[in-house]
Amino acid sequence: MIKIHNLGFPRIGENRKLKFTLERYWRGEIDYSTLHATAVEIRQQHWRLQANCGLDLIPVGDFSYYDQVLDTSIMLGVVPERFGSSIDLDTYFRMARGRANDDLPFRACEMTKWFDTNYHYLTPEVDANQQFALSSSKLFDETRELQLLGYQPKPVLIGPLTWLWLAKTNSDFNKLDLLERLLPVYENILQRLAYQGVDWVQIDEPILVLDLPEAWRNAFAQVYDRLQKCPVKILLATYFGALGENAALTCELAVAGLHIDLVRAPEQLATVLDNFSNSKVLSLGLVDGRNIWRSDLDAAIATIATVRERFAGQLWLAPSCSLLHVPIDLERETALEPTLKSWLAFARQKLTELEVLRLAIEEPASAEPELSISANAIRSRRESGLVHNPLVQARLSKIDAALTQRQNPFPVRREQQQARLNLPSYPTTTIGSFPQTAEIRQTRADHKRGLLSDAEYVGQMKQTIAFCVREQEALGLDVLVHGEAERNDMVEYFGEQLEGFLFTSHGWVQSYGSRCVKPPIIFGDVSRPKPMTVSWIEYAQSLTAKPMKGMLTGPVTILNWSFVRDDQPRSVTAYQLALALREEVADLEAAGIPIIQIDEAAFREGLPLRQLGWGDYLDWAVRAFRICSSGAKDSTQIHTHMCYSEFNDIIAAIADMDADVITIETSRSNMELLDAFINFEYPNQIGPGVYDIHSPNVPTTQDMVALLKRAAERIDPGKLWVNPDCGLKTRQWQDVRTSLAHMITAAKTLRSAGASL
Ligand code: GLN
Ligand code: ZN
Repeated sequence: MIKIHNLGFPRIGENRKLKFTLERYWRGEIDYSTLHATAVEIRQQHWRLQANCGLDLIPVGDFSYYDQVLDTSIMLGVVPERFGSSIDLDTYFRMARGRANDDLPFRACEMTKWFDTNYHYLTPEVDANQQFALSSSKLFDETRELQLLGYQPKPVLIGPLTWLWLAKTNSDFNKLDLLERLLPVYENILQRLAYQGVDWVQIDEPILVLDLPEAWRNAFAQVYDRLQKCPVKILLATYFGALGENAALTCELAVAGLHIDLVRAPEQLATVLDNFSNSKVLSLGLVDGRNIWRSDLDAAIATIATVRERFAGQLWLAPSCSLLHVPIDLERETALEPTLKSWLAFARQKLTELEVLRLAIEEPASAEPELSISANAIRSRRESGLVHNPLVQARLSKIDAALTQRQNPFPVRREQQQARLNLPSYPTTTIGSFPQTAEIRQTRADHKRGLLSDAEYVGQMKQTIAFCVREQEALGLDVLVHGEAERNDMVEYFGEQLEGFLFTSHGWVQSYGSRCVKPPIIFGDVSRPKPMTVSWIEYAQSLTAKPMKGMLTGPVTILNWSFVRDDQPRSVTAYQLALALREEVADLEAAGIPIIQIDEAAFREGLPLRQLGWGDYLDWAVRAFRICSSGAKDSTQIHTHMCYSEFNDIIAAIADMDADVITIETSRSNMELLDAFINFEYPNQIGPGVYDIHSPNVPTTQDMVALLKRAAERIDPGKLWVNPDCGLKTRQWQDVRTSLAHMITAAKTLRSAGASL
């Protein structure tokens, strides 16, 4: 009998109930017992839903008030000293979010992207003397809660090696040395679970799909030899990619079962089969846990057929990874066009697919109706005119070298741009957005709801733009922006105006803590029916003699923050986006806009987990950016912006994008992040952010002068721009005014000191 199971379920709840409850708790509007009651309700609802989909084993421990990595750290008793010695819910939330009255900045733990997903976890912190002690009963309590409902629990733990790998240290020591102290806690946990009557425990070791140092590879056998002695069966879960050179060592581990991701890495089935013992459980991750498309069940059945005999009673089916990364229930989407809707599957539908797959293997006749619905949907999507646009494909086929090349190299362009813009040295600008006040948000919401006519809406937005331009002129910035008041989100704004995108009403996924995003879905060939930003920018330019900077989101960022179609390579979708944005660049230019910024905030995020894939990604991502930007005339200045500056390993690719100016994040690291630019001479101009917009603090002129001086030690001062780290939309006008005034004074100080540097 084939078993079906799940690796994890989204916890934010339908209607984002957990989010709203948490936020009320944080504001002090409800007490712990209400928060707890809501958590119980959400968990039970999700367990029932999963049981109703026919799952044999239900994951427990995937629920979290904030983050599962933080839960693990707490369970292991790992709380950095600055949070005190008691471990309670208050400590937990302080680690996650800091606290408003904590005076030291950056009190909370650091947040990092979970592998290549858009989920962020809280980074564990360990030191060389780190002690561990079982410090939370959450997993045991929740297991008991689930058992009382009469379901089979499968507790989920982040594996010791993955947890350690993700931990950061403040001194130099070998984290593997901590295993001796860490493993007893894991043993203790497994023993307690066994004592509670648990049969299977899922231990997640996704680092097995990364390039690992030899010592870490070797540690696996040592760790699992020990853990398998505990009286539970361990299902070792790997996901997000191929085991690659770790396949043999993983297959040989002394565990009772192994889960592999066959969506990201279908080819690894053969390798695993070559190395795997028939007596263990093999869990096939056949349903995509990272994307929202309906599965091709016929293809999945064919895969299962190849292993079925060999694994007779030992075959399990599951999503490729936890369903944390997809929305909960497609049924909620009552406004979706029915054909498009029939192509999609959210968490609940994905679990139903598992049930159909099992039925198709065990009682083929009964699965017939479901299978034919599925096959029809797959065919409909493959052949649909909604997906395929011959005009877009014709344009794609004409992409050639000329389309990715500016007219002239940077030095020539620079002269022409300078002749046109006449900027001082250390020119000042901002990254695009200005404060999104409650009023602005209300205006957008009213317009969306039809309470404001188009004309009224445009009128109000124009007033906002005019205000923003006046403020910037009064401050004396050199390059102005329109302020982005019309954008609720830098990706959604463009997606809504492009063909090939669809938007859900409830398709929320957790980004971190109580923060959720509703990623657009790119289902078809992308094209731009009409200009998207030109009228706003043109209006803004009409109000000032200073250069106005047009503002676009780049193709790679739109791609990396959307659910992307899986019927063609991501690169092709990126090129389509780039061609559409290229038209926008041309229209802005034709409207007389002298500078255009193409934000690539998520450029680095798209890097594959393994280095082997980097070259290919960087090739097409850079190419997409160049397709989008290189139609600009020499005299039009192209900027790009990235919200980070860990550039050491990709600096050549960044330079290859050939933007005339790049603005990046650096203020928090005191310009240390600019070290990449010491070894590699970045050829074009660069604006290292000097004003940390993530902090409510108002930076002083001296602070920023100091930062600029440090930057000028690393980068030719003639190439430097002066700007904040990122957009100002989350800040208040009052602070922004003062901070920018300080920033401009800092630029002037550097200008007058110019010759002496
Ligand atoms: N132009 C955008 C803004 O200023 C850039 C945002 C970002 O990089 N995340 O808000
Ligand atoms: Zn940014």
